[in-house]
Amino acid sequence: MRREVQRYIDEHESDIIQFLQSMIRARSVNLTLSSGFWLGTEAYAAELIIPELKAIGFEVKVFELEEGRPNIVARLRGKVGKPRLLINSHLDTVPVDNIDLPKWRFNPFSGELAEGSIWGRGACDHKSMGASIIWAAKALRELGIELEGDLVVVQDSDEEAGGFKGFNYLAEKHREEIEADFAIYAVNTQVTNENMENFPSFSSYNIWVRTMATKTFKIRIWEDPPHPENLINPKAAGRLSELCMRFIHWIWKLAEEMASRHDPLLGHDILTLDGVEFHRKKAWSTTPGSCEITVTCRYSPEHIDPSEEISRVLDEFKAIENVKAEIELVSYRPGMSMPTDSEVVEAIKRAAVEVRGVEPKTTGTPVGISWGFTNLVNTLGIPTACFGYGCVDRHHSINERISVEDLKDTTKVFALVYMDLLKAYDRP
Ligand SMILES: [Zn+2]
Repeated sequence: MRREVQRYIDEHESDIIQFLQSMIRARSVNLTLSSGFWLGTEAYAAELIIPELKAIGFEVKVFELEEGRPNIVARLRGKVGKPRLLINSHLDTVPVDNIDLPKWRFNPFSGELAEGSIWGRGACDHKSMGASIIWAAKALRELGIELEGDLVVVQDSDEEAGGFKGFNYLAEKHREEIEADFAIYAVNTQVTNENMENFPSFSSYNIWVRTMATKTFKIRIWEDPPHPENLINPKAAGRLSELCMRFIHWIWKLAEEMASRHDPLLGHDILTLDGVEFHRKKAWSTTPGSCEITVTCRYSPEHIDPSEEISRVLDEFKAIENVKAEIELVSYRPGMSMPTDSEVVEAIKRAAVEVRGVEPKTTGTPVGISWGFTNLVNTLGIPTACFGYGCVDRHHSINERISVEDLKDTTKVFALVYMDLLKAYDRP
C-alpha cells in the first residue's frame, strides 16, 4: 500500500507541478508588507485550494478577521475520528522588490519550470508545501485508502507579517477547530550547501523541534542637564555620543557571555546591535537630547531569558555614569522546544527512510520560522515537528525555487505520515 502511494505520486508529477505553478501565479503577497504594486491577496490562493480540498472530501471552513484574508481549516474525517493530525502551511508570500526584478531569471509570478525546478515567489515559502499537503491527501483518496483518524489541514493568511490575521487569530478565536493530537509544520528544513557552515547543528536532512526565542529591546539614554545659557556647546554634543559608545562596550561583554551558552540543537545564543539613533530635543537644537540603542537577543528556550541581564547591565551603567536610561521590550517571538522522540517525529523519520533512504536528524532552527508553529506549540500545546525537503534559505530570496524532486518527495513523506499516524486501511 505504501509503495503504491509513492508510485501514484511519481505518476502524477506533472499534475503536482501544474498545481504548484497555478498557486505561484495566484499572487498572494501579504498586503501588510506590499506596496500595492503586486496586486493580490491570500484569497487568490484560497480560491485554487478550496475546490481541490472539497474534491478530496475535506469539510472546509474559512475564517476571516479581515475580508479577503482567509484562513482555511479543512477536515478529512476518518472512520474513528481519532487521533487527529494537523498539518499547516501558509497562503501568503513576501513581496518581490522592484529593484531586484532584473536579478530574477524568470518572472517571479510565472511559476517557470526550468532546470528541474519550479521558480517563483512562494515556490518554497510556502506554496510547494501547500501543494504537497493536498496532493498527499489526494493520493490516498484516489487509491482508495481510508484513515481512522482525522486529518486537519490549516492554510493561514498573514504569516509573513506576524500572524495577527492568521494563525494568532485562529488560535485565539477558533481554537476548537484546530485542536489535534500531533501536528506538522510543513517547511523546508534543509539549507543550501554554501550556507551549511552557518547552521552547524544541521545535517543534510532535518526535522526541527526547537527554535530560538527572539527579543528586541530599545534602550534610551539621556541626561537632564540644567538649561545652558549658550546653546552652542561642542562639549555637550560629544558627551552623549561618548556615553552611547561606552554603553555599547558594556553590551558587548554581555554579547560574549551569551555567545558562551550553547544548545546542541540550536547553536550559540546571539546578541546583535541593530541600531543606534540620536534624537534632538527640538528641531533647532544643535546637540542631541537622547540616544536610542536597539539590540536583539536570540536565545535557546532551554537557556535563561536575557531580559534581566540587560536590565542589570543598564542599572550598573546608570549608577556609574550618573545618567538617565530606560529599557523597552519592542518585540518578542517565543522560542519553542518539543520532545525529540515524539510520535510525529518517529513517523516522519520512518517515511523519510522509505522515500530517500536517509533518516533526517532531529534538531532545531536558530531562526524563528512561523506563527503557525509558535501557536501550535505554545498556545495549543500540540506535539509538533517541522519537516519538508528543500532549502529554507531560499525563502524570501531572489530566484526562489523548489526542485521537482523535493516537491515530489515531500508529498510522499506527508502521505506516508498520514497513513502511519492516522492508521490507514483499504476501503472495504
Ligand atoms: Zn516566509
